[in-house]
Amino acid sequence: MNSINNSFTLLNRRSDPGGASDFTFLLEQFADIRIMRFQVPGFGKLSLQQKKLVYYLSQAALCGRDIIFDQNGRYNLAIRRTLENIFLTYKGTRDGAEWQAFVVYLKRVWFSNGIYHHYASEKFLPEFGNTYFNVLIENSDPGGFPVRNGQSLSGFIAELTPVLFDPAILPKKVNLAEGSDLVLTSAVNFYEGVTESEVESFYKEMIQADPERPLSFGLNSGLVKENGKIVEKTWKIGGKYSAALEKVVTWLEKAAIVAENAHQQATLEKLVEYYKTGDLKTWDEYNVLWVSDLESEVDVVNGFVETYEDPLGRKATWESLVNFKDKEGTKRAVTISENAQWFEDHSPVDSRFRKKQVKGVTAKVITVAQLAGDCFPSTPIGINLPNADWIRKEHGSKSVTIENITYAYEQASQGNGMLEEFVLSEEERALSKKYGPLAGNVHTDLHECLGHGSGQLLPGTSTEALRNYQSTLEEARADLFALYYIMDSRMIDLDVLPSVEAAKAEYNAFIRNGLLTQLTRISPGKNIEESHMRNRQLIAKWCCEKGASDKVIEYVQQDGKTFVRINDYLKLRALFGELLAEIQRIKSEGDYDSGRHLVETYGVKVDSELHAEILARFKKLNVAPYGGFLNPVFSLVEENGIVSDVRLEYPDDYTGQMLGYSECYSFLPAWQD
Ligand code: ZN
Repeated sequence: MNSINNSFTLLNRRSDPGGASDFTFLLEQFADIRIMRFQVPGFGKLSLQQKKLVYYLSQAALCGRDIIFDQNGRYNLAIRRTLENIFLTYKGTRDGAEWQAFVVYLKRVWFSNGIYHHYASEKFLPEFGNTYFNVLIENSDPGGFPVRNGQSLSGFIAELTPVLFDPAILPKKVNLAEGSDLVLTSAVNFYEGVTESEVESFYKEMIQADPERPLSFGLNSGLVKENGKIVEKTWKIGGKYSAALEKVVTWLEKAAIVAENAHQQATLEKLVEYYKTGDLKTWDEYNVLWVSDLESEVDVVNGFVETYEDPLGRKATWESLVNFKDKEGTKRAVTISENAQWFEDHSPVDSRFRKKQVKGVTAKVITVAQLAGDCFPSTPIGINLPNADWIRKEHGSKSVTIENITYAYEQASQGNGMLEEFVLSEEERALSKKYGPLAGNVHTDLHECLGHGSGQLLPGTSTEALRNYQSTLEEARADLFALYYIMDSRMIDLDVLPSVEAAKAEYNAFIRNGLLTQLTRISPGKNIEESHMRNRQLIAKWCCEKGASDKVIEYVQQDGKTFVRINDYLKLRALFGELLAEIQRIKSEGDYDSGRHLVETYGVKVDSELHAEILARFKKLNVAPYGGFLNPVFSLVEENGIVSDVRLEYPDDYTGQMLGYSECYSFLPAWQD
């Protein structure tokens, strides 16, 4: 539930004093995507053993790549390999608009780990026709296509073509729209032949052996109907995805040997045990070990973790994120987390819903070394794990802000014109340039290390009560907590922020994004689907409406363009507090109807006239609204058969990295059934 997405860094927030001037951050743009790369400062200062640990964990990360493709849709692996075979072996001409359209489509499939938009969730269609598709196939190596056993090439193409070209076939990865069967209408590959209500009752019948510490039933398995019977297919060694997980485990075992300490070694060994058994109790034990490892500098997320892609919020996508501690940045996060109890005690929510004792929120700032699975190429900028509520309550959670990624975003956005186009006044622009990056990072710290960890459920309230609105409301809760406190004088007392002006910069950025600029990511005529975006519009629109009589937030027309202006920051802060209290109540009581009402009223619908205006203004800037990153490459340097160092390189060729991954880290068959 807890990765924060990166869209607010879309705005150019910093004219940086320099530093990385000879390093190219922005590499290329296609469709609505920017490809960037990030640096790994501090890697050279790690010990050789730590470097080796980063190397092994990075290998483990890359080995799981195929899993996310298959999870994102049952045809994805076959489609990716089909396109790659064409790209590598096509004998025809490689210039012209159709070939270009083919290349862009392949790049998009790589970027989204499949044929669905990584963020908006709908299927994107090739901008070449299926006649051209047939030409490409006929002139490529026929032996390189991943046909099913016993299937002819023409039968294979006939099966694939409508999946690629017909907008009505499997149109959406995750459908959260009201009034339809969310399982049947979502193409995400977690369910087969089962309905939403069958899934609900399947899991309802599972008895929690220890209701105080409930297992995350369904987290690491698909649900399919076989001969009229519903069965779980667990993702583990010996089960589904075994071939990839075996490789992941091989590298994790090597990593365990060079772990920094006995605790970390035991943690990695527990993760291996979990992959071997698929046992959810072992997964919880692993997370308890992981969250209590405060000593190690190198750290990793590796597993079936986040449940955003399941319309019912139960099944997790595979991801990995290898990182190490940024000691300087961590000081600020530690200050915030050390005061967690104060923030909890003073929060504007009903005292029944506050945590009496905030358990070990450990906050740190990290430097990412490698991204994989659902974190790649599009990546979060903050993480708060583990997700199991009982572990968070009894053992705390780890909250991280990923500063080398935010930094790369800012560098890549230098001078892209967003501030000039969408900010009303010179004063506001200056505020944004001066305080934007710091305020953004502090927002992330507060969101991750306090927001998600705050509050408690009333006894008897199920963590799944909010169902398809859970993700949006959870993100709103964390954002509101951050927004409420960033304007608190305590921020200045603790020396986290230099002045209240920084908080104003964050309010401006948040409201502008929620009401205007995030619409650049929505296609004309579409509603908002993605949880973080729904959350931001929900907050901004709700405050706009509730503060209308006082003109707390105002739409301003100037030169035929729409802007927003905050007239009263303190009243806005009070509104943030009010909405936080209400959303916490909804979560604590499991009030599904109120949650649905909030999201559907404020978070989903888009004003089509304003939307068209924003898109037209944005188009002129020629800035792709979404971004993602290439990975750095680590390799072992050996002398006389002994590893003497680990080399770090920064490739700049997106196509090269993707093809290389497909060649070296592709372990699953194209067809899993
Ligand atoms: Zn979050």
